[in-house]
Amino acid sequence: MMPKIQKLLVANRGEIACRVQRTAQRMGIRTVAIYSEADRYAPHVEMADERYFLGGNLPAESYLNIPKILEAARATGADAVHPGYGFLSENPAFARAVREAGLCFVGPTPEAMEKLGNKVTAKQIAREVAVPLVPGTAHAVREGEALVEAKRIGFPLLIKAAAGGGGKGMRKVFSEADLQEAMARARSEALAAFGDDSVFLERYIDKPRHIEIQVFSDLHGNAVYLYERECSIQRRHQKVIEEAPAPHLKEETRKAMGEAALRLIRAAGYTQAGTVEFIVDAEENFYFLEVNTRLQVEHPVTEAITGVDLVEWQLRVAQGERLPLSQEEISCRGHAIEARVYAEDPRAGFLPSTGVLYSYELPRLEGVRIDNGYEEGQLVPLFYDPMLAKVIAWGPDRISAIQRLDQALANFAVVGVQTTIDFVRFVLAHPVFQAGLTHTHFVEEHFRPELLDNRPLSPEEREALQALIDWIAHSWYGSWQNGRE
Ligand code: ADP
Repeated sequence: MMPKIQKLLVANRGEIACRVQRTAQRMGIRTVAIYSEADRYAPHVEMADERYFLGGNLPAESYLNIPKILEAARATGADAVHPGYGFLSENPAFARAVREAGLCFVGPTPEAMEKLGNKVTAKQIAREVAVPLVPGTAHAVREGEALVEAKRIGFPLLIKAAAGGGGKGMRKVFSEADLQEAMARARSEALAAFGDDSVFLERYIDKPRHIEIQVFSDLHGNAVYLYERECSIQRRHQKVIEEAPAPHLKEETRKAMGEAALRLIRAAGYTQAGTVEFIVDAEENFYFLEVNTRLQVEHPVTEAITGVDLVEWQLRVAQGERLPLSQEEISCRGHAIEARVYAEDPRAGFLPSTGVLYSYELPRLEGVRIDNGYEEGQLVPLFYDPMLAKVIAWGPDRISAIQRLDQALANFAVVGVQTTIDFVRFVLAHPVFQAGLTHTHFVEEHFRPELLDNRPLSPEEREALQALIDWIAHSWYGSWQNGRE
C-alpha cells in the first residue's frame, strides 16, 4: 500500500490552485501554494496552509521553473505535487523530476504522457485499437510527400503540428497551389511554439462539433468514462462555454465514443484523469483529435452531472486506491453548463484586458457553482492566462441550466477590466444555441461586436466608479496639499 498524501504542493495559480486546495483540505491534506511577485496577495496563496515565494513574474521565472518548484517542495516538506492545468501539467520532464525527487506526482506517468502528448504517436495507438481518425497522413510529412498525400486526402485540408496545442501551427489549405507556402508557414510556427517542426495533414471536417470524453483509470487496471462534454463554442480555437451532456447526441454515439476513449487509454497504459477529444460531424461520425493528459478547465460540468469530485479521485488514485465507482455506478443527472469569465475585451477581438478589479462581486444562486481565482482590489496581471473565474450552473434540463447561468452572469459585477460576460450572455440568448445546434464555427458565424449592447452601468458599477473618481481626486488633492507645505 502506498503512503497517504500528507502535504500537497499545488504547482499552479488562479482558480485551479484554489479548487485543488479546497478538495485537499477537505480530505485533511495540508496544502502548499507557490506564488510569483504579482500573486503576493492572490486568493490561492491566502487559503493555503503554507506558502512559498518563487519570485519573478514571467512564467519562466515562476510557475514554469522546475528547479524552483522542486526547491519549494523540499523546503516545505511536501510529499506530493498537483500540476493543475496549463503550465507544467503536460510536461513529462516535470512529472519525471517530481518522481525523481521522491515525491508523488498527481497525474499520469511521464511515459504515458509522452506517448499521448504527441499527436502523431497518439494517432498511431488510436489506429491500432480501431479508434476512428480523421482521414489524413499516418505520420509527419515533408514538402514533397505532402503534395501526393494532399491529393489523396482532398481539399480543403488542415496542416497540424505534431506537438501542437492551442491551435498553434494549424493551417487550413484550400487548394494545391497554396500547399507549399502553407507547409512552410505551419512548420516555422510549430518550430517557434514547440521546438519541433513536424507537421501532418488531415481532412478538413466542415463545421464539426467538439465533444470530449472524461476518462479515469487507477493503478489496478480499472478504467471508466464519465460521459462527455460538448465544447463547440470557441473563439480563436479556445473554448468559452462547455456543457454536459452534449445536446442531441444519440445514446449509441455516446456509448461508442466512451468505449473508444477507454480502448485508447488502456492501450497507452494511461492512468489518472484524462480527456479524449473528438470532432463529430453532422452525421455523428466521430474522429479522434487528441488526449489531454491532465484535469481540464471544464471538469466541473462533469462533476455537476455525476456528483463525482474529480480532484478527490485524482488524489485517491495517486495514493494507490482503487476507483471509487464502477462504470455501471456512474450516473448522469440533469444538465450542467459552464462559462469561462475572461479578462478580455470581446469588442476588441478578445484582447486581454488588465487592470485593478475595483469592484468584483460574485453571484450567489442555488444550483450555481463558482470556481474563482481573484478578489476585489487585486491586479489582473499581464503575465498569465486572463481567465478570472468559471461559473457553472446545473439544472434538471438544459434550458433551466442555461437560464440559471444567465442569471448568475447578470449578477457577476466586475469593474476595472473588460470581461467576456456579456459575450457569453449573447451566446446563451441566441436561438441557435438554445436549440442546441452548435458547431465550432458558431462564434464566427453568429457573433459581431456590434451585437453587444452598450448597456448602461448598474447601480453597483456606478457606485464603484464614483468611489474610484473620489479616490483619485482625493489623492491628487492630498499630494497637491503636501506640495504646498
Ligand atoms: P489544438 O491541440 O491546437 O487545440 P486540436 O487538434 O485539438 O488542436 O483542434 C482544435 C480545434 O480545431 C478543434 O476543436 C476543432 O474546432 C478544430 N479542428 C481540428 N481538427 C479539425 C479538422 N480535421 N477539421 C475541422 N476542424 C478541426
